[in-house]
Amino acid sequence: MIKQLAIVGGTHGNEFTGIYLLKKWQDNIELIQRGSFNTETVFGNPEAYQANKRYINSDLNRRFNQVELENRTLTGLEEVRAKQINQQLGPKGDPRIDFIIDVHTTTSNMGPTLLLTAKGKFYNQLAAYVQMNMPEVVISCDEDHKTNQEQHFLSSIAKHSVMVEVGPVPQSVLRHDVFEQSERMTLLILDFIELYNTDQLPQFPVTIDAFRFLETISLPLNSKGERIAMIHRDIQDKDFAAIEPGQPLFVTFAGEEICYQGDTTVYGSFINEAAYYDNNLAMSLMEKVTLNCR
Ligand SMILES: [Zn+2]
Repeated sequence: MIKQLAIVGGTHGNEFTGIYLLKKWQDNIELIQRGSFNTETVFGNPEAYQANKRYINSDLNRRFNQVELENRTLTGLEEVRAKQINQQLGPKGDPRIDFIIDVHTTTSNMGPTLLLTAKGKFYNQLAAYVQMNMPEVVISCDEDHKTNQEQHFLSSIAKHSVMVEVGPVPQSVLRHDVFEQSERMTLLILDFIELYNTDQLPQFPVTIDAFRFLETISLPLNSKGERIAMIHRDIQDKDFAAIEPGQPLFVTFAGEEICYQGDTTVYGSFINEAAYYDNNLAMSLMEKVTLNCR
């Protein structure tokens, strides 16, 4: 039973969709209230929003592993903010909040994507429910690479969580389509939890398709750490489309293609995400999986 739910927006200060959705919902609280649980809203990083940046000192959505939360010598703005949010919603390990929805956007052409952070029938049925009502939603899983304690995402404070991730939208920009998709997905998640709590879940398909995270790949660098290539035009905007062995991933500034060296078909996500340039990350590689929903 989920009793306490938090919707977080603005974990990244330049992802305006979640921030303006929060404003809308704070002014129209009935939109996010349901009979069987309480919903509250949290503005993740208002200082970064004021500065029109993703973060001030470090990425807030990487500050929530247990060791770092307990380390009092860490006093950067996001390190302190993470501890505040952990007090407000957590503490991680024994949290007041049962479920967190963290609303993000991406500059990549991922469409409306539901990121599942844990395994199990509850999550699979949640994903199926969202997809039954919004067939364009892509399900992306990264459930078993880290324990919840090690997990560094804000949403990992709660025992249960998902991230809403919609794009493409530039940083610090609002787009009507992305705003609407983000809102619909979030409200469908609330509807699912209401049906789950009140034992009224509908019949689900036996399985649904999803993508599961394998690894991130970096932009090619020279020995001085400078970028020597960019994302190849053939995969630009092709999030969740197949990448075959030998297919070009990058092109150097001299025009030479750098190809995918793996020996199986994979699928890209967060392809050329603007926010990942600070780490020289080029994309995530995913595999196709099926989730059992009954
Ligand atoms: Zn984000």
